[in-house]
Amino acid sequence: MKDIDINETLKNKIFLKYLLYSVFIILTVKILFMLLQIPHVMNFFNNIENQTFDVRQNIIAKYKKVNPDIKIISIDDASYEYVLDKYGEWPVKRGIYADLIEYLEAQNASVIAYDLLFVKSLKSSREDDLKLAKNISKYDNVFTSINFDNQDAALRKPVDLPEYLKVKIDNESDVDLASPAIHFDNCRVIISEILNNTPNIGHINAIREDDGIIRNFLPFAGYKSEYYPHLALKVAMKYLQNKNEQVPADFKINKNGDVVIGERTIPLSHFGTTILNWYGPSGSNGGHTFEYVPFWKVLKTMYDEENLVPKDYFKGKIVYLGTSTTSLFDIKSVPTDKLFPGVETHTTFVNNLLDNNFIRRVPPLVDILVCMFLSLFIGLIAVRTKSTILSSLVTILTGVVFLFISTVLMHYFNIWIGVILPLLSMAISFTGVYIAKYILKSRDFEYTYALATTDGLTELYNHRYFQEQMIHHVETSKRYNSEFSLIIIDIDFFKKFNDNYGHQSGDAVLKQVAQVLKKNVRATDIVCRYGGEEMTIILSNTGSKDAKTTAQKICDAVANKPFKLANDIEKNVTISLGVATYPKDGQTPQDLIKYADACLYKAKENGRNQVGSIE
Ligand code: GH3
Ligand code: MG
Ligand code: MG
Repeated sequence: MKDIDINETLKNKIFLKYLLYSVFIILTVKILFMLLQIPHVMNFFNNIENQTFDVRQNIIAKYKKVNPDIKIISIDDASYEYVLDKYGEWPVKRGIYADLIEYLEAQNASVIAYDLLFVKSLKSSREDDLKLAKNISKYDNVFTSINFDNQDAALRKPVDLPEYLKVKIDNESDVDLASPAIHFDNCRVIISEILNNTPNIGHINAIREDDGIIRNFLPFAGYKSEYYPHLALKVAMKYLQNKNEQVPADFKINKNGDVVIGERTIPLSHFGTTILNWYGPSGSNGGHTFEYVPFWKVLKTMYDEENLVPKDYFKGKIVYLGTSTTSLFDIKSVPTDKLFPGVETHTTFVNNLLDNNFIRRVPPLVDILVCMFLSLFIGLIAVRTKSTILSSLVTILTGVVFLFISTVLMHYFNIWIGVILPLLSMAISFTGVYIAKYILKSRDFEYTYALATTDGLTELYNHRYFQEQMIHHVETSKRYNSEFSLIIIDIDFFKKFNDNYGHQSGDAVLKQVAQVLKKNVRATDIVCRYGGEEMTIILSNTGSKDAKTTAQKICDAVANKPFKLANDIEKNVTISLGVATYPKDGQTPQDLIKYADACLYKAKENGRNQVGSIE
């Protein structure tokens, strides 16, 4: 066992403790952020963070109310069946959609939006197409859609879209509108009679994330270096306009990355997408989250004069027509529902804009600060709390409270604060501190051991350790047939020295003599305080001759060294020594000590300051 300097250990202990804790916490945060530079790791954490968003959305969705000014005419399973039954084909004749416009206008609907693509179709008669186009352009509150994609230009030549569909965006923020995520190479256009006769056309592109779930929305899509608003954005703006609210002709993204529409804002991510605040789940309303009426009921009311739709149901409302039947495939996975009608992603956007409650993701800096705060807090708790159970409980409780706060923030302030990295930092910080504690504990053990085996004044091994080592050396030497030696040292006339210079000076000399002894033996030799002013040295694997040489060397070293007393005066002292060697001078610890003592006595007898011998 190596020597441990007790006083130094004591002094360093507290410093070391906090140094170790700090290093662990700093390393933790650093490693975490280094890991996040790796795209795969980042994606991994993003995906989990997204799942926590879904969980929070599901919790708060129960407390959200949809805007009653949004109505959906739903082409649901029953309507699909009704149409097939009545007209013998799907899709319905476009003339019917044209009639629907007249009907809804007569009902004083505020905005009418078709979440359908009126593409060129062999099934649709020219006459019907023209009738629909005529009715769409006849009213300025009827909207329909185009769809961008990345279809091969060899299959379908990317067309030029009419000038009036393009919008200017004044971008003061660092939102990257050029990002490929929101740009498309091609466009699925609708029949030219509609495309070229109304400005009320928006795109209906949806963006899925890696896990297939739609969380974000694309207010603007890029195509041929121009920008086109989403159908839902146009619809919402028209509705606000009808309510005499100010809506800008051109779009502006302010410094914070928000699209400003009067007093409302659409916060954009760096890639130009916005996070929707979801309603639902749809199951609670017969497959729908928003208020809806099945298409067949509208048809019967329109054509058969059956009063299946209440009077004034559509008055002043945004009326969105879309499909919800699974057989038409416009079903999306969203945080609150795995089978969400596509049209309701639009109405969710419209609703978020009207209620000004889009989700705002906090800037990365806030996430980092939260991580640092929580890991420091948990680190401190773990350092200060003696009980592991208590600190674990506090850590878990902190995590739960943090999750609760993050949900409350999302519900009341529409803020998405990251939770996965903070929870991870907390866990790592907690573990880090406990690893540090474990290391310190093992050091503590060494410290206690040193305390139990060391003499406080001289910092030599104590009497107990000496006796233990004597037994150990006798046993090993016996087993390996080797030798070892023992030197006993006694300071000469020490009683007188104490009387002359005081006990304190005596102590000072004792300490210094101990140092001289240590300095003059090998690191493997064991120097002990036997008691009073007597010291012993066990020399492993050392025969009589070498031991006597060492004893003489020590005797000379002490005699030649001036020792500093308490009052800084220097004095000389001498020592007398006796040497015994196993097995020649004794076979047991007692015999060896007795023999060495006898030699020591001889040295005293012969005038002190020498190595005694009884041979
Ligand atoms: P000698 O050994 O040369 O025969 O004479 P001595 O005066 O040294 O005699 P002895 O070894 O019997 O006396 C031991 C003295 O050492 C008694 C005591 O005053 C002193 N002593 C023992 N332990 C300590 C200690 O821890 N501090 C100090 N200052 N003195 C001690
Ligand atoms: Mg003595
Ligand atoms: Mg003495």
